[in-house]
Amino acid sequence: MTFLVNDPTEFASDALRGYVAAHPGHVMLAHGGVVRSSETPAGQPALVIGGGSGHYPAFAGWIGPGMGHGAPCGNVFSSPSASQVYSVARSAENGGGVVLGFGNYAGDVLHFGQAAEKLRAEGVDVRIIRVSDDIASAPAQEHRERRGIAGDLVVFKIAGAAIEAGADLDEAERVAWKANDATRSFGVAFEGCTLPGAGEALFHVPAGEMAIGLGIHGEPGVREVPMGTAQEIADLLLSGVLEEEPERVEGGYQGRVAVLVNGLGTVKYEELFVVYARVAERLAEQGLTVVAPEVGEHVTSLDMAGLSLTVVFLDEELEGHWLAPADTPAFRRGAPDTTDRPARTGVHTPGAEEVPEASAASQEVAGRIVAALAVLEATAAEHEEHFGHLDAIAGDGDHGQGMAYGTRGAAAAARAAAEQDAGARTVLLRAGDAWAEEAGGTSGALWGAGLTAAGGVFDDVEGAGADEAVAALVAAIDAIVRLGGAAPGDKTMVDAALPFREALLAEFEATSDLAGSVRKAAAVAREAAEATADITARRGRSKVLGDKSLGTPDPGALSFSVLMDALGASFAQTPDAADPDAQAPDGP
Ligand code: ADP
Ligand code: MG
Repeated sequence: MTFLVNDPTEFASDALRGYVAAHPGHVMLAHGGVVRSSETPAGQPALVIGGGSGHYPAFAGWIGPGMGHGAPCGNVFSSPSASQVYSVARSAENGGGVVLGFGNYAGDVLHFGQAAEKLRAEGVDVRIIRVSDDIASAPAQEHRERRGIAGDLVVFKIAGAAIEAGADLDEAERVAWKANDATRSFGVAFEGCTLPGAGEALFHVPAGEMAIGLGIHGEPGVREVPMGTAQEIADLLLSGVLEEEPERVEGGYQGRVAVLVNGLGTVKYEELFVVYARVAERLAEQGLTVVAPEVGEHVTSLDMAGLSLTVVFLDEELEGHWLAPADTPAFRRGAPDTTDRPARTGVHTPGAEEVPEASAASQEVAGRIVAALAVLEATAAEHEEHFGHLDAIAGDGDHGQGMAYGTRGAAAAARAAAEQDAGARTVLLRAGDAWAEEAGGTSGALWGAGLTAAGGVFDDVEGAGADEAVAALVAAIDAIVRLGGAAPGDKTMVDAALPFREALLAEFEATSDLAGSVRKAAAVAREAAEATADITARRGRSKVLGDKSLGTPDPGALSFSVLMDALGASFAQTPDAADPDAQAPDGP
């Protein structure tokens, strides 16, 4: 349990304040997390790593030269919000782009992805690394679909070293994925952890047993087996990870491995050493050479009793980065040269952004966007009950409310920005943030990211006409697909959005008529949405309810088609939007 706590809901932020106070030479607070207290050298990619709190040293403990540049920190075991990720990334970024790194969990994927869309819309190049080292969570051929556990340390250490050595964004991304693909972990738990303020552990392991395949958010493990000795446990974990040892190849993996024995919170260091003694012995027997092993607490899960074993199959490049200097509060190796790093002068403060100055032409486009969002708001309100009813059949019933709240928030934020003379891009970025924030839920995050990406098509200077409107719709759909990761046939809004995209482009190419093209594409989307009644959900919340969704169209697909139809209809009433010649002249 947690003995030292004030208000349990403030536990994560109280801990973060204390951490920063204890390490002023390394880190300073930013909105929702920490950044290095020294400036990121100009043009260097910023490695922004994070996830929920409750895992210290992961992730805030690894901020400093040779490793991370910033860490957004969510509440205990929950992803940081998109605005926290955005703020930390904005603070850390200094002209070299951003690598966002996090363990592969749905909430983190969504929130980091949403922040990435916003940074991209603002012209910052962003790459995403999802750590997926846990062999218990998916089969070997789906390595990148697995969840991330202690491998976070290795992947971020190696990526940070590559960046410190001068890697640009492409190179940092390549090395980080390579490290992830070479890393395997396997864990076992003896007792669950207890959330601060809670009286009861999240799970218990029956006496005399242990749970293998642990998660780091209080997931109980994939199966329970009789408790073993330290040696038996070492053998079990090692055989698991070594099952996926790659072949040795000239110029590649040669039997050299980095090894991490990671305590989850309440296993003593001496116990970990007892396990490591056996691990080292077995690795030597198998002819493997261990490079700079780590035995201790690196990725914890509050006070969970358990441990994991991580093995990284190194080649020369990965080994070099694994051994390179790093200077962070919780992970140190040698001494990186940081004589040229001035102290950071400030961090990004959300809400303090002024509305960027906009041309009259862009303000005019912004006005049309405000009008379009008002149409979406009215349409979502009109269909709220219907969408909610569809979602209640195989989901959780909140889709009507999500769409109503999301569109209302987006329309209000857009209006407020336009009243401050914002241009098209700013109006859409603010609307996107507000949609995600107000709607909550998966579809809210996706629609929010869609609006944000649409904003990236515009700037606050140039005017825009039908071509840009089509480009914005396409960008929005592409962002939804990118962020949600759904494929056609998964029974999601993508099943309506992709046919819509295709029909829109074809129709607009043929006719140059924006309103007509959107309406026609919306009809195609409607048909595709209705057709999702014949398939079983494989994504999102309703996948767990499986066949229950059969016979009912996907709520998100249907709402997409309904909203697009209303949008097309509204364009038809403002013919100037459909006529590129009628657009306002460029420039102020
Ligand atoms: P939640 O699922 O969080 O309750 P909503 O009920 O508002 O959110 O939205 C549900 C809709 O979200 C689904 O009908 C589906 O169309 C869409 N959705 C869920 N997951 C995805 C995904 N990964 N990609 C695209 N759309 C998705
Ligand atoms: Mg729902």
